[in-house]
Amino acid sequence: MSAALFPLFADLRGRAVRVVGGGAVAERKVEALLHAGALPRVGAPALSARLARWADEGRISWDAGFFVPQWLDGVWLVIAATDDNAVNRAVAAEADSRRLLANVVDDAALSSFQVPAIVERGQLQIAISSGGHAPMVARHLRRRLEALLDDSWGALVGLLGRQRARIRARFPEMGQRRRFFEQLLAGAVPRLLRQRQDQAAEAELQRALSLGPQAAAAGTVTLVGAGPGDPGLLTLNALRAMNQADVILHDRLVSAEVLAMARRDATRIEVGKSAQGHSTRQQDIHALMLEHARAGKRVVRLKGGDPFVFGRGGEELEMLKAHGIAFEVVPGITAALACAAYSGIPLTHRDHAQGLRLVTAHCKDSMDTLDWQALAQERQTLAVYMGVASLETFRDQLIAHGRAAHTPFALVENGARREQRVITGTLADLAEIAHHFEVRSPALLIVGEVAALAHALHWYGAAPLAAPTRPSNVTAPNLSRAA
Ligand code: SAH
Repeated sequence: MSAALFPLFADLRGRAVRVVGGGAVAERKVEALLHAGALPRVGAPALSARLARWADEGRISWDAGFFVPQWLDGVWLVIAATDDNAVNRAVAAEADSRRLLANVVDDAALSSFQVPAIVERGQLQIAISSGGHAPMVARHLRRRLEALLDDSWGALVGLLGRQRARIRARFPEMGQRRRFFEQLLAGAVPRLLRQRQDQAAEAELQRALSLGPQAAAAGTVTLVGAGPGDPGLLTLNALRAMNQADVILHDRLVSAEVLAMARRDATRIEVGKSAQGHSTRQQDIHALMLEHARAGKRVVRLKGGDPFVFGRGGEELEMLKAHGIAFEVVPGITAALACAAYSGIPLTHRDHAQGLRLVTAHCKDSMDTLDWQALAQERQTLAVYMGVASLETFRDQLIAHGRAAHTPFALVENGARREQRVITGTLADLAEIAHHFEVRSPALLIVGEVAALAHALHWYGAAPLAAPTRPSNVTAPNLSRAA
């Protein structure tokens, strides 16, 4: 087995580094060196446009011509970035004889040091190396880490760096200091930094320093929008929250694929509400959130779509606020946006619709509170949530208030999921067509001229189903089956 590389982070500020080569690769290396405050000395017959500009600006020096051993006089490190193997070899040999560390780009065998793949968040740097054996693996891992770490990590390192002396003075003993950091990292400071409340984070750190070691940190609740079902529609913040959760309280609407992305050892509790019954009462959901947050857990309340669109997210936050539990909100892709995108229906379109209304057919009191006059206006798109059981009312009221009977609609069932179905027709036949195709919840109703575009613009799953030709003396069938 070959020996491992010795990892090190070099302080190159104000130190000369020789870069041999003047092309695109050399340019990338010089850029990284400048970022580290080094003094690059480029040697090459010609320079790329950017390198030439840096030379003009005096940020780098340039020796025009072909490699000569004198180029290695007085430098700390050497990077060979030419596409000429013989030159790279000569540079490496000369560096070796002078006991200078040299990197030959993309040639581990010729290199006496290697440049790792880097994830950078402020002063925090994570370096990844495969020892030159599989740079692609290192790069792949780097992309994974990029997604995992938001930029508040940089702020955290900055903050702790500024307070380092005070922290050491306060907790001179190593074990004590470690416990302090563990509590701090599990507590409010990282959360406040994520919320861009830098001053509050600083104040919280001061407070923790003055109090010393504490009882267990308080729990938090993160309200997370899980989107419509396709895990690709989760945000990075949603993924991070799900990766850190101790407890996940999820709706029934959240797909199995999305749940599979969550931390494996998190406790998962379904608190689903379904049209078929078996629902958890809202006050029980509140009680569960409180119980786990008070036990110091990181609770993720995972909801289909977006938590603030017909998701009772507002009520849940009001309750948490009233009980003094810290919370965060991660928006999600709401059903209207996902169903429209995945059925090729642009919700607004300069030729057809200048506005969009999101409405629910499921009201606290009754549908009489809906402003039908406004909903029936032309040149707008309606996206109706939880409407499957009320299609007749929607059709009747919209037409009675002036929306044309031939206005196109689309029903998107299981939008953005493998089982997606899109059913189209005109408003007059809405209830019959839904009945004919046995549309089931979850389905989103889109009413407006744009709905007709699904036939031309669909791209996901099966093509839209069109209405059967309308029998002449149709009577509205009983829709009570379709919940
Ligand atoms: N907070 C959710 C909405 C919850 S209300 C959001 O932002 O999307 C539940 C209703 O949303 C369902 O009755 C249905 O109308 C709609 N819905 C949710 N997911 C859906 C999906 N994948 N396909 C179609 N409609 C969906």
